[in-house]
This record gives sequence, structure tokens and C-alpha cells, in this order.
Amino acid sequence: MLTRILHIIIALTPVLSLFVTSCTGVSHHDKRVVSVTIQPQKYLAEQIAGEHFLINCVVPANSNPEAYDPTPMQLVEIDKSEAYLRVGGMLGFEMSWMDRLSQNNPDMKIYDTSEGVDMLTGTHCHTHGNGVVHACNVIDPHIWSSPRNVRIMARNICRALTEIDADNASYYRANCDKLIQRIDSVDAVVEELLAPCRGMAFAIYHPSLSYLARDYGLSQLCLENMGKENSAMALKNTVDEAIEHGVKVVFVQQEFNPRQVETFARELNAEVVTINPLNYDWATEIINIAHAIAR
Ligand SMILES: [Zn+2]
Repeated sequence: MLTRILHIIIALTPVLSLFVTSCTGVSHHDKRVVSVTIQPQKYLAEQIAGEHFLINCVVPANSNPEAYDPTPMQLVEIDKSEAYLRVGGMLGFEMSWMDRLSQNNPDMKIYDTSEGVDMLTGTHCHTHGNGVVHACNVIDPHIWSSPRNVRIMARNICRALTEIDADNASYYRANCDKLIQRIDSVDAVVEELLAPCRGMAFAIYHPSLSYLARDYGLSQLCLENMGKENSAMALKNTVDEAIEHGVKVVFVQQEFNPRQVETFARELNAEVVTINPLNYDWATEIINIAHAIAR
């Protein structure tokens, strides 16, 4: 009896060790590690990698990837990574940290998941870790707001995994094909919801939906000015512009929480909708956003 229990414990040990996380927040596991910056990338990478890699997401849920500094424990985890899949564009965290991360771990391969995406400039300001806005004529990093870009990101992630683990290339390609089918169906749902809204505008505090607006024929009206709240005068002008464009919905992200949004929405008699474009479940999030624009 005792030997049998002992056998079970021995058999389970490697399985259990995969799930053990110490109080320091660093997980102990035997899996190969790939790091990504944000939760939507973690979702995509996990769908493709399956059981073969542990996907380490650096920016935690509810944190702002434009002004995030990793903890020392996270640096240890990144150090174990064979590859880093960066979002690309000019995302604050990556702009501030990528060089240091790659110097700390010179063997870590760096892949840009935005490769091949038609990038927007001039729609977004670049913010440093200290919250100071640096420049506004830069590449907009919020590529994951459009399913059409997400499809490109998925293919780039698949290419990276097949390169670092060629033995399982056909497994990754099969998973990627399944994921692309899912992305295609999200694209079709969003297209159907937003087709009647072509030419319309929505408002948002921080401009995180520029690619969605571009790809589905909408205008995005941004309330933030150089990373800060607008002056009363500028806000009045934005209200006039929003009335002219018939804005019915004002989006606000949970990581930005300005009081100005309420005032703005009241003036317009528009609905305030809280969104989380950094949701791990990016598909549900993007469909909810499309529903809010369409209603
Ligand atoms: Zn942003």
C-alpha cells in the first residue's frame, strides 16, 4: 500500500511542479519559456504553443504597458526566456526596457509581432516610464485593436515558435491555422456589426482604437491631449467636434480614469463605456467594443 502511494507521489511530482508558484511570484517549472509584453499576445502565443512553452506575460493585467517597469523577480523570469515576442511599434515599456532585457540575456531571440502590419503614425503620443510624454509623431503601438492586425501577429508568433522549436513546427502550424479561423470569425462579426456605422465617430480618452477605426471605416476622437487631460477650452472644442460627428459613445480604459470623461459625455448625452483593450480574451473584448459602437 505504502509503495503504491509512494509511486503515485513520484509519478505526480513533475506534473505538480509545473503548477507550483512560490510566494516570490516566480514560477518553478521545467518548461521552455517565451516572454511577451501584453495579455492579448499571451492568448495568441498560448493557442499556438500549446503545452510546449510557458508564455510569460511581463505587463500584468490592469497595468499600463506604456509606463511599466518590471519587478526584479520578473527580470529573472525574462532571463529564462528563449525568445521575446515584442508588440512592436513604439510601446513605452518596450522602448524603455527592450535594450536592457536583451543585454541581460544575449541568447534570447527577439521577434517583432507587428512585422508586416501597416502601422499608423501621428495618432498616439509616446510616454516614458515616468509618465512624461516624449513625442506625438510616432508609431501607434495599439495594433491588437484590429482583428486584421491580430491575424498578422498570430502568423508572426507562429513563425517565431517554428524557428526556435523546428521539431514541433507542424504542430504550431496546425494550431495557428485553428487560431486564424477564430480570428477570421471575429473579423466577420466585427465587420457585420460596424458596416452600418461607416463614416461615424466614437470618442475615447486614450487613443487605443486607432487601428480598429481605420480598418472598419470609423473616426476616433481622442480626449487626451499629450497624455494629459485637456484644458477647458480644448475640451469645449472637442465637445463641438463630437456633436458635429454625432458621437454616441465615449470609451474609457480602466488604466486611465479621468473625471473629464463624465463631463464630456454629459455634454453630448453620450454613453460612457469602460473597456479593457488589454484583456487576455481579446476576441470577447473587441466584439463588445463593436457592439457598443453599433448600438
Ligand atoms: Zn496608448
